[in-house]
Amino acid sequence: MRMKKKINREVMLIAVIAITVMAVCSILLFYRIMEKQILEDLKANAHVIARMGVTKLTETMDGELDQEELRVTLIGADGTVLYDSLGDKTRMENHKERKEIADAFRTGEGRAVRKSATSAKQTYYYAMKQPDGDILRVAKESGGILAIILSIAGLIVIIGGGIFVMCAFYSRSLTKRLMAPIEKMAENITLVQEDEVYEEMRPFISTIKRQHMDILNYARIRQEFSANVSHELKTPLTAISGYAELIVSGMAGGEDAVHFASEIQDNAERLQNLINDIIKLSELDGKDLKLEFETVDLYELGENCLSMMSLYAQKNEVSLRLLGEHIQISGNKTLLEELLLNLCSNAVRYNKKGGSVIIKTGFEEGRPMLSVKDTGIGIPKKHQERIFERFYRVDKSRSKSTGGTGLGLAIVKHIAAQHNARITLDSEEGAGTEIKVFF
Ligand code: ADP
Repeated sequence: MRMKKKINREVMLIAVIAITVMAVCSILLFYRIMEKQILEDLKANAHVIARMGVTKLTETMDGELDQEELRVTLIGADGTVLYDSLGDKTRMENHKERKEIADAFRTGEGRAVRKSATSAKQTYYYAMKQPDGDILRVAKESGGILAIILSIAGLIVIIGGGIFVMCAFYSRSLTKRLMAPIEKMAENITLVQEDEVYEEMRPFISTIKRQHMDILNYARIRQEFSANVSHELKTPLTAISGYAELIVSGMAGGEDAVHFASEIQDNAERLQNLINDIIKLSELDGKDLKLEFETVDLYELGENCLSMMSLYAQKNEVSLRLLGEHIQISGNKTLLEELLLNLCSNAVRYNKKGGSVIIKTGFEEGRPMLSVKDTGIGIPKKHQERIFERFYRVDKSRSKSTGGTGLGLAIVKHIAAQHNARITLDSEEGAGTEIKVFF
């Protein structure tokens, strides 16, 4: 509301200033034109009178001049007044010093405007030199600038007032139009369409909308994540307490007890893995995560992974190989180890008996590249876009039975992001998968 008022007030102020300046200028202009016109009229009169001859004028028109408010004066070459239609010429002082007369003596004609001593009016003079050397002067009184202002004051007020009212209306509608989208946005940002508002406003609206959507999305993801976490934690815990209860109640004895205990062990391990992964993710998610970067050799990373995974690969009857060259990049070694381990364990876990996994390091597209390729079950096209999401699994039971948490690739994605690395996925259902990380 305040902003609206401010804009309104300022527009009105500008309108008042503009109208005033305009009025003053018009009056001045009008006054100048009028002055010029009066002097031109006097000149025309003077010429007529000169042709007629002043003596003849005195005989025929003496009385009428007054009615015309014209004053005719004839001045001799020495400046003495020879005739004046106003009256007693003998009492008039020498006129040689008057501007219009002096000019007329010098150049043939002269003009002057003087304020009358007796009234608020101005007197206009036009003087011309006659062939015999005398000066004929014609004068007329007219109202001053004040009189003009007064005479057109009404018109000025009407026009100025009209313009002012128009400005007021315009300013109101302008502020309304300016503020409407902002007010609408304040109510509900999602309801405002970009094309509904004026152009300058569009980037502003898109930015706010995008941020708004990001916040909503982030909140939704968070909420989904906590719901998922609770659910994922609950399953092994329920199993653990169920088996424990059976053992405690004495219902399970001998071999059964051993089997239940091993189930408890498996579920506890699952729980541990899950909690570990959740902790890792939340650490990676931290806004002000400060990573220590060092020189890391991708090939050495592969060797390390190979030695850690060989037993697991053997157990799954999968062969594991490392190809490529020594490539140094700057990165966080612990996180990069974690990334490769996650990719490799997936490659083994979602493989077929007798399948293979190849870890490769090298340069591709001019960038250091680390890839893990398997000949496993592959990922159907429709799932490929989502497998990097938290807890997204193509085959839930397979993931769970093989110790998957559903967080491995989410962690991979985060670690890659921390290293400004790009991930590509190339997978064919039934044939295998290759995941490449470009640094
Ligand atoms: P999980 O712990 O379930 O393996 P991930 O985030 O590591 O979770 O992977 C998500 C899902 O992507 C897996 O459940 C699996 O369905 C699929 N997946 C990941 N890697 C591979 C792979 N190399 N081959 C086939 N499927 C894979």
